Amino acid sequence: KISEGEWVVLFDSKRRYLIQVEREKIFHFHKGYIRHNDIIGMEEGSIIRSSQGANLLVLRPTYSDFILEMPRGAQIIYPKDIATILVWADIYPGARVLEAGIGSGALTIALLQAVGETGTVISYEIREDFAKRALSNIENFLGKKDNHILRLKDIYEEIIDENIDRIILDLPEPWRAIDNILKALRPGGIFLAYTPTIIQAQKTVEALKGTKSFTLIETIETLLRPWQIEGLSVRPFHRMVAHTAFLTVARRIVT
Ligand code: SAM
Repeated sequence: KISEGEWVVLFDSKRRYLIQVEREKIFHFHKGYIRHNDIIGMEEGSIIRSSQGANLLVLRPTYSDFILEMPRGAQIIYPKDIATILVWADIYPGARVLEAGIGSGALTIALLQAVGETGTVISYEIREDFAKRALSNIENFLGKKDNHILRLKDIYEEIIDENIDRIILDLPEPWRAIDNILKALRPGGIFLAYTPTIIQAQKTVEALKGTKSFTLIETIETLLRPWQIEGLSVRPFHRMVAHTAFLTVARRIVT
């Protein structure tokens, strides 16, 4: 049953609304309003009717629902890329993972879930305002996390952590961090950079190769093509997201 303080998503036929259920509050939208009091005690998966007779489905948010609807400063990494990152960067329970920057915290949440209670996630970020929002997003979805460390630092300047298993970068010039990464990432560790343009990917690959300390370097992209299956209309949707970013992955070797 849904209790007070929980986050829920309300789905109508077209849209999804993320709200935190609080007693006496009222949720307004273009088809009237819903009293939070009426959601409290409902079973997840039930339908609630708005003041104007619209039916909304009440569910607890999945990870994707949450990150797509949570407050953002910086652009988030989308679920299809996060899914690929978790496997290509091989994020495992117990891993010590370092990321930069934290942005809105979408990737951070996925990393914290994947490393579990025995792992650690360290986030480097230069913007305090982004970091603040990200921490609030993380806490709203996962609760307080003792195994998450935030460092308000420029990763191009320095990394003060060592013996890191996995490093993921989502910032404009990943190649500028490569010397620091070399010191922080343990041999056998995996580096992954998420870059919107192929120029950024190419510069990153060149920088990785230049160190002679990385191997198994590959650059990939993830294309997700949703299909419509309705009666005889069984075909890909006409529209799809054609591009988000490239993922460049590499493995640190002993040098
Ligand atoms: N991955 C994040 C997410 O899924 O929500 C989004 C990251 S956002 C696109 C890029 C972030 O990197 C911004 O918050 C920016 O302030 C931060 N950043 C840029 N350069 C940085 C640097 N040199 N060191 C640390 N953080 C940096």
